[in-house]
Amino acid sequence: MTRCAITECKDYTPAALDKALREIIDNTDFPDVAGKTVFIKPNILSDAAPEKAITTDYRALEALLKILKERGAVSLIVGDSPGTQMAKLSARVSKIADVVEAQGARLSDFREENRVHDIDGLKLPMAKALDDADIVISFAKFKTHQLMSATGAVKNMFGTIPGLNKSPLHFRYRTPETFAAFLMKVYAECHVDYAFIDAVIGMEGPGPGSGTPRHVGVMMGSKNAYALDRAEALMMGYRSIPLVEIAEKLSPGISDAEFPLLDPASLIMKDYKRIGDGKKDTFRSLVIGTIKNIFSRNGNDDRPRPIFITENCRACSKCVSICPAKALKIENGHVVFEKKKCIKCYCCHEMCPFDAIKVK
Ligand code: SF4
Ligand code: SF4
Repeated sequence: MTRCAITECKDYTPAALDKALREIIDNTDFPDVAGKTVFIKPNILSDAAPEKAITTDYRALEALLKILKERGAVSLIVGDSPGTQMAKLSARVSKIADVVEAQGARLSDFREENRVHDIDGLKLPMAKALDDADIVISFAKFKTHQLMSATGAVKNMFGTIPGLNKSPLHFRYRTPETFAAFLMKVYAECHVDYAFIDAVIGMEGPGPGSGTPRHVGVMMGSKNAYALDRAEALMMGYRSIPLVEIAEKLSPGISDAEFPLLDPASLIMKDYKRIGDGKKDTFRSLVIGTIKNIFSRNGNDDRPRPIFITENCRACSKCVSICPAKALKIENGHVVFEKKKCIKCYCCHEMCPFDAIKVK
């Protein structure tokens, strides 16, 4: 059985990060990186300030880069591609670009550096770094996710598909279940060797872009990203999340692991603000929801829809460009939303930089 290590890491000081990462590496099946090219995929959903907890923290990334160099890695590539990436990848605000430069690594822009892969009968551009590297590491952030309940080490690799190329995939795989099965295929195509989750400061509430930072105080790592994501979900207080449910259905036992350090069952945060919390499933709402689902074109029609907060909107058009259903347009400086077209993928909510989209 694979090992999944969770260890205390109270803050982002170099000493705490170095100790935690080494403990994880020493207690799991970490790959030999000596003489190898290593590609590290952090979560850079948007180039946001570190204190917002949207991105994998730059200090955690820097600590890992140092360890990889010390263990003999000869070349380090770091990269991600947010859904609305239109121009050259920017990672200055998050400070990720700074540590990449400081550690002699290279920031790869997947819009410019990609190769076509075949996934599920589709020809999809994916980060060239996946082909160039000997070792691939997913370095995710501990966050809730409006569609998938939680985002973790498996879903993190969806970002290897550059920018807006991801948008039609949301339209094609529109329910959490079909999207989860597709994410598994993307993950398999990435041939990930190891995964970490930065859970020193996580995100609760309406993640992955608009939630609230929450101190969790641990770092997590495993060769088995499904076990890592299952542990993350458990710590957040979910009974299960769609990704783990579908993964277990398709491949029983895929998320099984032993925990040589901290046990996630002892780290459950009952008051963690999860997706769906506060929604009361009364008998009436369950019956209405079931009937709606039966007749729905899109499935899961009882899920909440996005709501646009006009006062916060700056008409930046990011939501319009990402919307896979073409349900949005800007008119007279405001977003116009065609409810009937919406497939409830929440990409708009994920990408809005001004907290102008709620999901209710
Ligand atoms: S809702 Fe948000 S993403 Fe959409 S135009 Fe307004 S500010 Fe931009
Ligand atoms: S409006 Fe938002 S939630 Fe609806 S389909 Fe478009 S991006 Fe997805």
